[in-house]
Amino acid sequence: MDNRLDLDGKPIKPITICMIGAGGFIGSHLCEKLMTETPHTVLAVDVYNDKIKHLLEQPASGQPHLWVGRIQFHRLNIKNDSRLESLIKMSDLTINLAAICTPADYNTRPLDTIYSNFIDALPVVRYCSENSKRLIHFSTCEVYGKTIGSFLPKDHPLRKMPCSFRFFATLLRRHQWMPSMCAHEAFLTSLSSSTSSLLAHPSLASKMASMRPRWGAERFKIEVVMVGMDEPDFYVLKEDESPCIFGPIEKQRWSYACAKQLIERLVFAEGAENGLDFTIVRPFNWIGPRMDFIPGVDGPSEGVPRVLACFSNNLLRREPLKLVDGGQSQRTFVYIKDAIEAVLLMIENPDRANGHIFNVGNPDNEVTVKQLAEIMTEVYSKVTGEPPLEVPTIDISSEEFYGEGYDDSDKRIPDMTIINRQLGWNPKTSLHDLLDSTLTYQHKTYAEAIRKVMSKPAAA
Ligand code: NAD
Ligand code: UDP
Repeated sequence: MDNRLDLDGKPIKPITICMIGAGGFIGSHLCEKLMTETPHTVLAVDVYNDKIKHLLEQPASGQPHLWVGRIQFHRLNIKNDSRLESLIKMSDLTINLAAICTPADYNTRPLDTIYSNFIDALPVVRYCSENSKRLIHFSTCEVYGKTIGSFLPKDHPLRKMPCSFRFFATLLRRHQWMPSMCAHEAFLTSLSSSTSSLLAHPSLASKMASMRPRWGAERFKIEVVMVGMDEPDFYVLKEDESPCIFGPIEKQRWSYACAKQLIERLVFAEGAENGLDFTIVRPFNWIGPRMDFIPGVDGPSEGVPRVLACFSNNLLRREPLKLVDGGQSQRTFVYIKDAIEAVLLMIENPDRANGHIFNVGNPDNEVTVKQLAEIMTEVYSKVTGEPPLEVPTIDISSEEFYGEGYDDSDKRIPDMTIINRQLGWNPKTSLHDLLDSTLTYQHKTYAEAIRKVMSKPAAA
């Protein structure tokens, strides 16, 4: 832990971090990382601490933790607690993770959602600005809203703009049509000198034919058509270029995105007008152990968590996974442990991170929600040895699942240029691998509890 260097080769000095929302999913992983791999001190602020208990309590062995004295839990609600300012003043850096951030709340509790994501964050920004303290504020990829492409009719010619070979190859890797990175690189090398468009290229067919023995020409033919329909300019989300496109006010789903957008603008303006040192993080579907809750076990029976926990709950109970509006929306999922590496780089490289907004996601892990359900079903069956259900999924309307006012982001692919340039960060874990470790955790943590809950007779 001693003699750690930042990206510019300078020694990293231990700092004190006020982490608000430290007891949540991301906070628990960030606390764990800071305790086990750095010398920093954390003032952990939250109304709950169940997910960081293992860091706070004395180990059963009686041997103190490596990090003894470096983490303190402060149970407080930032809505109404005067201790917040003094905790920020005592710290070198504040990280604000506190939020209502489950889509089931956005349309059913829009006031709480707006207060939590905008009003309650205001004093945090103000205290940081007034006391010249650095702030890392957690926003969301949802500030991009819907993609430009989603407004084009399905067969619009603009959708069919041809793509470069490099992009084609990246897509192939993203969808894991290449058997290995090695094959992917060979493919890139063979085509990298070409800048002409994929669809216009006359020798593509012969190139594909020459690859037949390794990958099979049939799959290539099908995917050429698909690539022609996906123009990246219409859906790859760039921090400094993409617009934020939300639905009408009646679609209360956008209360969250809109509140997050306004607090981003406020943080940015504090930087521009009052010199606040800030970094804004836009997570793109970070998933892994300890995310949300399993309804009826460690959360309310009627609660609706985010998709990972919903599908885990269905798998644990051996009931079909529910596909909202057919599960056609697309998401890119990144493993929490990869994403936390990015946050640590931001913490320890302020000169490179200050003044920036960062997408943090894994563009290579894109699937539709329906594909996610299929992969999770397959991986869960492998992890548990239980056969998959005969009918593994069912369709449900968004109105029935979430209620009135729900709407959806169609597709979310993060552009990685800025985080790559500033921090050299890249995600590592494939969707399959991250689901394997996450579902192993879910099964170990919840299978027994679910068995007990399900064996209880239903209340009369
Ligand atoms: P989470 O719900 O697990 O954690 C949020 C924590 O904040 C909870 O422990 C909650 O108790 C605490 N909190 C909320 N209001 C509080 C208050 N008034 N006072 C004190 N504590 C309060 O959520 P998460 O997934 O860890 O997300 C953290 C942040 O990242 C949020 O701002 C969220 O909007 C953002 N985000 C996360 C994802 C993701 O993929 N997980 C995606 C987009 C954005
Ligand atoms: N979803 C689904 N079934 C579920 C839960 C969610 O089909 O049981 C869908 C939801 O409609 C959305 C996607 O999965 O299209 C991701 O939902 P999540 O709650 O993780 O949050 P989001 O990515 O929308 O912020």
